Amino acid sequence: MQSKSTRPRSDALVFFGAAGDLAYKKIFPALQAMACRGMLNFPVIGVARSGLDVHGLLERARASVTEYGGLDPAGFAVLASRLRCVSGDYGDSTTFEKLKAELGSARCPIHYLAIPPSLFANMVGQLQRSGCAQDARVILEKPFGRDLESARELNRVLREVFPEEHIFRIDHYLGKEAVQNILYFRFANAFLEPILNRHYVENVQITMAEDFGIKGRGKFYDETGIIRDVIQNHLLQVVSYLAMEPPSSTYAEAIRDEQAKVLRTVRPMDNDNMVRGQFRGYRNEPGVAQESFMGTYAALRLWVDSWRWEGVPFFVRAGKSLAKTVTEVTIQFKQPPQVVFSEATPAIGNYVRFRLSPVVAIALGARAKRPGEGMSGLPVELSIVDGGQAGMPRPMDAYERLLGDAMAGDTTLFARQDVVDAAWAIVDPVIHGPSAIYEYEPGTWGPVEADRLVADVGGWKNPV
Ligand code: NDP
Repeated sequence: MQSKSTRPRSDALVFFGAAGDLAYKKIFPALQAMACRGMLNFPVIGVARSGLDVHGLLERARASVTEYGGLDPAGFAVLASRLRCVSGDYGDSTTFEKLKAELGSARCPIHYLAIPPSLFANMVGQLQRSGCAQDARVILEKPFGRDLESARELNRVLREVFPEEHIFRIDHYLGKEAVQNILYFRFANAFLEPILNRHYVENVQITMAEDFGIKGRGKFYDETGIIRDVIQNHLLQVVSYLAMEPPSSTYAEAIRDEQAKVLRTVRPMDNDNMVRGQFRGYRNEPGVAQESFMGTYAALRLWVDSWRWEGVPFFVRAGKSLAKTVTEVTIQFKQPPQVVFSEATPAIGNYVRFRLSPVVAIALGARAKRPGEGMSGLPVELSIVDGGQAGMPRPMDAYERLLGDAMAGDTTLFARQDVVDAAWAIVDPVIHGPSAIYEYEPGTWGPVEADRLVADVGGWKNPV
């Protein structure tokens, strides 16, 4: 699936927010992993406001890799030798003059904005004025705006300084091995693709469930909610990989072209096709408004108005404080005629199941004959891939993969603006206006009211 980029490699990585949470949890561990693979052959400049010097930053990096994945002495030594630090206020032009000096002879640096999105616009302006944006690339973290309008405005600001092919919008879901496997499995096998259409598929279900709540992030969550947090980005990216047409070639933009095309055919949401929920106790969380109507659960019935998928519902649901932590896709096929074996229509028919986390698995649901005299069957599952199998190479963490691709100038696994816009256009009609919200018990599969969406297809496929 991956195309080889012919674009020049970046020759320095700058990351703003070096003292922040994302740097701690994801960026330092990814950099150490790159060093272990021999891929960290460029200067890494951390930028922080908080008066950090390079020794302080190094200690933070050491604590980070120790906590997230483990310290590799050789890898960490390489990271330590590459690490530089610039400290200063992001509103002060001298900070960027210091950065320019630190960049030295770098000709194609990449700037990773691991900072709150409200700072992006100012940061882009400072980079431009200081000359640090010259021939540079930029990496942004989600969320890319709060809705369609703000996403377009953010993009306008970015595009004044950076061309689209120099903008890397991270949706770390696209860097996940299991998500890439959806695309690979679809288009690398002859048996599946001919039946992935309205003639054979009854419905598609995507569940992203977490058995924990908002982990003290009340203020953030109460401004964001489940649709902005994971559905508009992660889960609609998954929908696009499941529903898109075969990319026409391996040229760098072919996959993103197909993602944009298919998301534009998804009907914008309305309240009839959505049920929102809030777990009991959410309003008592610190930072959450007493009368909050923010959803911690949402279930959507999406319609892809294309030749391939006309009439096939795609059910997407995500929630906090649900029965378990799991992300899974089930493609349910129509039942074959039962005339041959005169069986009652079995409850479980044929399906393909992609488990995306916490373990990675692909499975085919089939029916086989039950041993004995009669011609009756039982459901069996053929498990195709399991991430725990011995002999499999260590899967790359999404951030390691995405940082490596960004350094190489390969945008394939990053969200292009038209894909982001198309995803916002789907949810935009339901994120502004009021809509009903149903309370659900923590530890369940969400509000029972969501069952109405799937009443015609035999209910939700709760991952086991
Ligand atoms: P933090 O809240 O930890 O902020 C990162 C850094 O930004 C801080 O360390 C601080 O620098 C600086 N900063 C924060 N507020 C201000 C301000 N008002 N003015 C100037 N500087 C400020 O953010 P995260 O690291 O959690 O997130 C960074 C980005 O990544 C965000 O866009 C977020 O949405 C995204 N993201 C984060 C995830 C996570 O798990 N944390 C997951 C997915 C996306 P200093 O400490 O030097 O003062």
